[in-house]
Amino acid sequence: MYDFVIIGGGLSGLTAALVLGKAGAKVVLLEKNAYPFHRVCGEYVSNEVLPLLSSLGIYPLKWGAVPISRLQVTSPKGTSLTLPLESGGFGVSRYLLDAQMAAMAAANGVEVIERCTVERITSAAISGFEAVSSKGQRWTARWAIAAHGKRSNLDKQLNRKFFAQRSPFVGVKYHVKIAHNQDLIALHNFEGGYCGISRIEADRCCLCYLVTRQQLKNHGSVAQLEAKILHKNPFLRAIFLQAEKLYDAPKVINEISFAAKTTVENGIFMCGDAAGMIAPLCGNGMAMAIHGGALLANLLLQCEAGKISREELYLQYFQTWQRLFATRLWVGRQIQHFFGSSLLSEALVASLRKLPSLAQWLIKQTHGKPIDY
Ligand SMILES: Cc1cc2nc3c(=O)[nH]c(=O)nc-3n(C[C@H](O)[C@H](O)[C@H](O)COP(=O)(O)OP(=O)(O)OC[C@H]3O[C@@H](n4cnc5c(N)ncnc54)[C@H](O)[C@@H]3O)c2cc1C
Repeated sequence: MYDFVIIGGGLSGLTAALVLGKAGAKVVLLEKNAYPFHRVCGEYVSNEVLPLLSSLGIYPLKWGAVPISRLQVTSPKGTSLTLPLESGGFGVSRYLLDAQMAAMAAANGVEVIERCTVERITSAAISGFEAVSSKGQRWTARWAIAAHGKRSNLDKQLNRKFFAQRSPFVGVKYHVKIAHNQDLIALHNFEGGYCGISRIEADRCCLCYLVTRQQLKNHGSVAQLEAKILHKNPFLRAIFLQAEKLYDAPKVINEISFAAKTTVENGIFMCGDAAGMIAPLCGNGMAMAIHGGALLANLLLQCEAGKISREELYLQYFQTWQRLFATRLWVGRQIQHFFGSSLLSEALVASLRKLPSLAQWLIKQTHGKPIDY
């Protein structure tokens, strides 16, 4: 019997595990992949989580993460706008960050079990929660945290409403070598999507785009889509022609859903993207996952210490989550309507060039304040 079972070892699950492990709790974290591994993600992390990461002994800038302080947005025709990023961020690969956090969690007593796909999670009044893997292994715990990301088999098992709706988006990612300004994250629009590029550790760049499934279907393959559509943006054309791709095939994921979700299901806490995913153009999903994991773990510890009741715990998690993240998610969804459409993104970039203070305001709405628990 564990105190906590955590399903999913992305940033939300790992952060929750680290906070709970450091407090001396008995924690098991179940992850379907084996560290280190690549994920589809733009790999730009907002600085708001730096104090929290430091408090957990995680120092990405010491491992070569690259500070980023400017944002460039371009339209498909190549109209460009560059702005300072007030709070800024840093670029680090998930390959490195997640593996370092998993190692730190293990060093703090968390049992990290890799290559373990959880097939089912159930709640029972006396035994608490039971997670069952595809190989039939079982773990029981008094509390369960589902940190399985944007969409997983568990959402189907838990009968979550959003699972029935198909998402129109696909994500594609490469690591590349190319000359790119150290301090710049660029978001280049194209018809049907947008592509981000920024530096990460080891002199590399992360090149990652979101595109509609329909647009990919229209062109039959990723290579054709890039040649026929992405290359129409002169910035992207130059990038794709000059970049040296560092792995043979890109990583591709589908079913990227931005639908509203719940924070608790059958007594199981949803954390990170499993509770709600922000549009990637905001560059904030990783920070929100880290923040959300710490928020939940700290509330759980308060409940364990008898400072709040079980009912207060569920209520406070829901209310704090809404206060911290709901507006950011909504703003992200609204801005995303302008991205990926030639006409709207052209109009947006042209307008923001005239109104840089509006652009700064929009960026602020999708970012949070620095946090340290
Ligand atoms: C195209 C794209 C670009 C993005 N770019 C950025 C960016 O630049 N900056 C940013 O901040 N955010 C970005 N994001 C968002 C960011 O990647 C996510 O918000 C963040 O990874 C969420 O963390 P998480 O821990 O909730 O989920 P994840 O990181 O997805 O982790 C979930 C984990 O659960 C595991 N899992 C799933 N199901 C099971 C199961 N049944 N059993 C066991 N394990 C399971 C998975 O293997 C995975 O490791 C981007 C997202 C996309 C799609």
